[in-house]
Amino acid sequence: MTTTTDFKKVAEQAQEELADATAAEALAWTAKTFGDDFIVASNMQDAVLIDLAVKAKPDSLETIDVLFLETGYHFAETIGTRDAVELTYPAVRIVNAEAGQPVADQEAEFGLLNKTDPAQCCFLRKVVPLRNTLAKYHAWVTGVRRVDAPTRADTPIVQWDDRNGLVKINPIAAWTDDEFNGYIAANGILENPLVSEGYLSIGCAPCTAKPLPGQDARSGRWAGLAKTECGLHG
Ligand code: SF4
Repeated sequence: MTTTTDFKKVAEQAQEELADATAAEALAWTAKTFGDDFIVASNMQDAVLIDLAVKAKPDSLETIDVLFLETGYHFAETIGTRDAVELTYPAVRIVNAEAGQPVADQEAEFGLLNKTDPAQCCFLRKVVPLRNTLAKYHAWVTGVRRVDAPTRADTPIVQWDDRNGLVKINPIAAWTDDEFNGYIAANGILENPLVSEGYLSIGCAPCTAKPLPGQDARSGRWAGLAKTECGLHG
């Protein structure tokens, strides 16, 4: 039987061995190591990571699970992008992770938590659903990049995710904005229409603004508040 300690060792060894791996190499390693026991997270800003994962999918794997945190507060464009991904990539199985309470019930009980206590709102609508979904897998793949924000500057390609107790793979951690945008252009990758309107980091509608000129992409998230992360990655 493989234990958590074993998976932690796998992560620690891969952190060294795959420190300079390409995205394709990291994803091939993921499929080889975990079979169908991993999930690819997407905020549906674009389908770069999904496209890479589908291209790295071995024939032995029928589908790739893609995790979408369905908070109930998304832009219509984000939901549309999720649906377009499902139509574009038949090998993708969307896993919608939802909070225990529908938005209407949460607002009836607590009011607008995204205004009064966004940390609690993110905890209920993102952190807990993520944790519950990840508990069914031994690895997850994220689109975190070092250039996203100073808090992400040291992101390795593979790491042990202590908070959620599984292996975390960040295949495009080292990608620059030029590499990222070049991949979208060269491969005709689906993008959330809000990107072309200037939203560079898309989260829930009430908590997402366009970043100010010269500021990092995530500066438009919870603008005006000290909060910079949902509690998913940092
Ligand atoms: Fe709530 Fe905003 Fe967090 Fe979404 S990003 S879960 S609306 S606080």
